Amino acid sequence: MTDIIIVGAGTAGLSAAIYALRAGKSVVVFEQLTYGGQIINTPEVENYPGIKSISGFDFATGLYEQATALGAVIESAQVEAVEDGAVKKVTAGGKVYEAKAVILATGAKNRPLGLEREEELTGSGVSYCATCDGAFYKNRAVAVSGGGNTALEDALFLSNYCSKVYLVHRRDAFRGEAKLADRLKEKENVEFVLNANIVKILGEDEVKGVVVKDKISGEEKELAVEGLFIAIGQMPDNQAFSSIVKLDDKGYIMAGEDCETGTAGIYAAGDCRTKAVRQLTTAAADGAVAALAACAYCELA
Ligand code: NAP
Repeated sequence: MTDIIIVGAGTAGLSAAIYALRAGKSVVVFEQLTYGGQIINTPEVENYPGIKSISGFDFATGLYEQATALGAVIESAQVEAVEDGAVKKVTAGGKVYEAKAVILATGAKNRPLGLEREEELTGSGVSYCATCDGAFYKNRAVAVSGGGNTALEDALFLSNYCSKVYLVHRRDAFRGEAKLADRLKEKENVEFVLNANIVKILGEDEVKGVVVKDKISGEEKELAVEGLFIAIGQMPDNQAFSSIVKLDDKGYIMAGEDCETGTAGIYAAGDCRTKAVRQLTTAAADGAVAALAACAYCELA
């Protein structure tokens, strides 16, 4: 039996692994995609204390290497269910694994705009990851949808490659940092399309443009772009655990700063739990808090 099973190898999950391993516990981390979570898609991280600037990929790789060097076992499988009891049973990839404690660090997945053919054109002009796909759009025009830090960072990143970047946001004020918006204003190839929604994707087999609708005048216009980068936030994905932990109306696991879920021996860390600030720093902090609580629980189990 493993001491602690961690669901998710993002910043919270890998931070938890590092803390639990250093406390002498055995750890298995399950990840259905690749390690790193959302930050792997961020071109540049400039707000993690102690690191002036680092790419999200390098940051995630550093965490992964640190955890595996300490002995973390990372299993590539989707966790389908967690069963409570004196011994927790975790079903992943059709197999059942046992642990004394479980940390849910499932993060969140990209929110879609919900446009017709958005899913079908994903990979043919529609992308949720500027870092991954930006280089394909060298010298081409693209649109970015969103007004948070991800959209602003994506627009900045893309402005280095693309001939033109339209930043389409549904309000006239950005949710993201003013410093990023100011840097975008200085870019000659960046145009803000504010108070507007993207209502249609144009093109048959690949994106040839988008239609944006002004929220105030109702006027529609076409933007001739070959790429649409959607960066409108994330949604949690915790339904598989709804029988063992409480979820709020948006699907986040109900847990406070102590990462306790109300189910003994099961903890929630990072973006998957109810919290006000979802940042790398808070995900890493949750990892430490949940791991130390889980270690203490293992001693009693
Ligand atoms: P976010 O902060 O939740 O912003 C989402 C943006 O998308 C908002 O501007 C929102 O508009 C817009 N939006 C939401 N639903 C929409 C819809 N259906 N149609 C059109 N627009 C929609 O998401 P995020 O930018 O991905 O950031 C998530 C968290 O990660 C934040 O806390 C952010 O600060 C953090 N982050 C940190 C870093 C870093 O540390 N370097 C990098 C990236 C992100 P409204 O503003 O009108 O609601």
